[in-house]
Amino acid sequence: MDFSLTDEQQAFVDSARAFSDGVLAPGAARWDAESLFPKEALAAAGELGFMGMYTPERAGGLELSRLDASLIVEELARGCTTTAAFLTIHNMATSMIGRYCSDAVIDEWCPELVAGTRLASYCLTEPGAGSDAASLSTRAERDGGDYVLNGSKVFISGAGDTDVLVVMLRTGDSGPKGVSALLVPADTPGISYGKKEEKMGWNAQPTRMVSFENARVPVAYRLGEEGQGFAIAMEGLDGGRINIATCSVGTAQQALQEAMDYVNERRQFGQAIAEFQATQFKLADMLTDVVAARQMIRLAASKLDGKDPQATTYCAMAKRFATDAGFRVCNEALQLFGGYGYIREYPMERHVRDTRVHQILEGTNEIMRVIIARRLMMEGALEVIR
Ligand SMILES: Cc1cc2nc3c(=O)[nH]c(=O)nc-3n(C[C@H](O)[C@H](O)[C@H](O)COP(=O)(O)OP(=O)(O)OC[C@H]3O[C@@H](n4cnc5c(N)ncnc54)[C@H](O)[C@@H]3O)c2cc1C
Repeated sequence: MDFSLTDEQQAFVDSARAFSDGVLAPGAARWDAESLFPKEALAAAGELGFMGMYTPERAGGLELSRLDASLIVEELARGCTTTAAFLTIHNMATSMIGRYCSDAVIDEWCPELVAGTRLASYCLTEPGAGSDAASLSTRAERDGGDYVLNGSKVFISGAGDTDVLVVMLRTGDSGPKGVSALLVPADTPGISYGKKEEKMGWNAQPTRMVSFENARVPVAYRLGEEGQGFAIAMEGLDGGRINIATCSVGTAQQALQEAMDYVNERRQFGQAIAEFQATQFKLADMLTDVVAARQMIRLAASKLDGKDPQATTYCAMAKRFATDAGFRVCNEALQLFGGYGYIREYPMERHVRDTRVHQILEGTNEIMRVIIARRLMMEGALEVIR
């Protein structure tokens, strides 16, 4: 078992770190304060291959393993949590298109998606179907060579500013087997977008509701077979959970380093606050949490890459653990900044606001426990640990 990075992996890390330090970090505070969606930065990420990290080569992507992609995302999240998180959602939707659409549809959409000059959203959640996503009710009725779409999706990242929506819709009976996935061009007549939601964090990407009223989309734009959509959506989410967990760990690393710099500089009671053992113990626990979370993510990613039957359980465990740890570390880092941590001029309150939502989306951390517990009860602890 070798935990060190290969030369190729180190090269990905170096290139992501340079991009993160040079492009993302300098913009992050302003994009947050002014709620700007940095499309130019995303197109620049596309030039490095980061907008199609694990999209198949056939569709123009790098076809990286999930482990390699997570090394890149970790660095990007250090620079801007929110932009890195959107980039991962775009990657998830783009790889689904590259994997499950016909050659003609791939040729039509993937080159620009992979380049980052067109952007994609992932549309699963509905007003009445959140954690219970399989109960979704937005319908697609066949009419000749088209589907006719009616219903609505909520909390869609990027919506209103993206070009393509990957939408999970009901084409059959109730339950997961009645769901299909469809590529929907964002400007299709019959689609309307809600107001830009005002959020606690993730302000550098828009979140909107999407409504469909008799919107017509060619049947040829379907991903996979009719009825396969929920399985495709869940497959995407296994990797999505690794991505969002990685965004937490990358941000926590940045917050920890910033806290280290601050406690060495800030003096109280005639000495640097770094000299108090209470400060050092807090930093030691933060570092331990970051490393533990990162190792868990890498283990889950390698299980997903190896198609291990327990991969879904490990992705759920990594997502639950790393997003909780990431938020906790950012919050402790804010504490070490004292009152300055609470002031917008310093990055700590942004790190806390941005990592909070990771405990909620891509399946809440309670739903992660449901997934883990179900497997534990079915198979026993030793079978999962093995
Ligand atoms: C900023 C943001 C961006 C998002 N982006 C996207 C996106 O791009 N695409 C998309 O499809 N969705 C997106 N989402 C939606 C997100 O995935 C959902 O909000 C999430 O899955 C939870 O659904 P819900 O909000 O309806 O909460 P609910 O499902 O109503 O849950 C409410 C509470 O009940 C708990 N709960 C529910 N069921 C159980 C259970 N069985 N056992 C124990 N507790 C339970 C939950 O854990 C939670 O604490 C986004 C959300 C946010 C906030």
